[in-house]
Amino acid sequence: MIATDLDTAIAALRDLIEDAERIVPFTGAGISTESGIPDFRSPGGIWTQNRPIPFDEYVADVEARREAWRRRFNIDATFDAARPTRGHLALASLYKVGKAAAVVTQNIDNLHQVSGVAPQDVIELHGNTTYATCLDCARRYELGPIRESFEASGEEPPDCDCGGIIKTATISFGQAMPEEPMRRAQELAAACDLFLSVGSSLVVWPAAGIPLMAKRNGAKLVIINREPTELDEFADLVVRNDIGDVLAPFIRH
Ligand code: NAD
Repeated sequence: MIATDLDTAIAALRDLIEDAERIVPFTGAGISTESGIPDFRSPGGIWTQNRPIPFDEYVADVEARREAWRRRFNIDATFDAARPTRGHLALASLYKVGKAAAVVTQNIDNLHQVSGVAPQDVIELHGNTTYATCLDCARRYELGPIRESFEASGEEPPDCDCGGIIKTATISFGQAMPEEPMRRAQELAAACDLFLSVGSSLVVWPAAGIPLMAKRNGAKLVIINREPTELDEFADLVVRNDIGDVLAPFIRH
C-alpha cells in the first residue's frame, strides 16, 4: 500500500510498530538531509557534483588520495554542524523502549550514535567518515591532526607510521564490505518482524538486498523515501512524505 497522505502514513506506521516486537531500522542518506548533510542521489546531491573515487584508484594514485582528502575537509564544517534529525531521534526512541535492538545504516555520519544508540548497536555497512584508519595495520587516526599536517605540507596525503595508507574509515566503491556488520545485519533481517527502510534509494548493493531478505523471512516491510525505489513493489507500506514529518510522532523523550 502506498500511503496517500501524511496522516494515513503515520496511522499505518503506528499500527505496524505497535504490533511488532523486533524492529530493524535500516537507514540511508535521506535520514540525514534534514541535518544539512546532502544525500547522493537527490538533485544537488553529492553525486551530481563529484564522481566517487573508487577504492583501487585511492590506493594506486596519490593524486586521487589528495583529492579525496580535499573533498573530505571541504565538507568538515557540514559534518561538524550536523545534529540528529527527527528521524534519528524517532529511531533512537524505538531502540530505547526495546522495540529495536540495533540500527543498521549505510550512513557514515555518526548521527545514530549521537542520537543515543549505543555505538555497538549501530551497524555501519559503509563505515564512518568521522575518523580514519590505516589500511594495513588498522590503527585509528583522528581527522583534526591529519587536516593540520595535510594543510601544512602543501596537501601531502597522510601515511601511517607502519608505512600503510591512511583513509577515512568508510567503505568506497570497489572496497570489500565489512564482514562482521554484514553478518549482523543479515541476522537481524532474518529474525525481525518489521523492517523499516528509511531514506535509502536502495540502489547500492549488497546493502539493498537486506530489506528483501527480511521480507522473504516473513517480516513486514516499510519503505519511507521521497522517491520511488525498486523494492516498493515488495513493501507492505510505502511512504513518500518527508522523513522528519513521518517519524516525529514516534519520538519519546
Ligand atoms: P541516496 O542518496 O542514494 O538516497 C537517498 C534517498 O533519500 C533519495 O532517494 C531521496 O529521495 C531520499 N530523501 C532525501 N531526503 C529525504 C527526506 N527528507 N524525506 C524523504 N526522503 C528523503 O542514499 P543511500 O541509499 O544511503 O546511498 C548512498 C550511499 O552514500 C550510502 O551508501 C552512504 O554510505 C553514502 N552517503 C552517506 C551520507 C551520510 O552519511 N549522511 C550522505 C551521502 C551519501
